[in-house]
Amino acid sequence: MKWIRKVFSLYDMKTIRKEMILLLGNKEMDAREISSAVGVGEKEVYTHLSHIARSVKHQRKKLIIKPSVCLGCGYVFEKRKRFTRPSRCPICKSEHIRSPMYRIG
Ligand SMILES: [Zn+2]
Repeated sequence: MKWIRKVFSLYDMKTIRKEMILLLGNKEMDAREISSAVGVGEKEVYTHLSHIARSVKHQRKKLIIKPSVCLGCGYVFEKRKRFTRPSRCPICKSEHIRSPMYRIG
């Protein structure tokens, strides 16, 4: 029985990623929007995003990330390499931070 479950989850992963690639090809979305659109948790969205970033390269496309912005002072987290939202601004210490937005183009 174990292998059957494995096959299914692999299938699900592929389906979810395909769906995400389609969605992000049409519009810019943040992790929360993606999470509710494809029905997986936000944490899982980030895992899929890092795979997608690699896989779309084969189609000569790329995952474009619009960096997080501090809503307190306007600081842009441009050098951030991780996909997740930073928790606090290094300049003004505000925790009101706009999530990064993703798109495929
Ligand atoms: Zn700030």
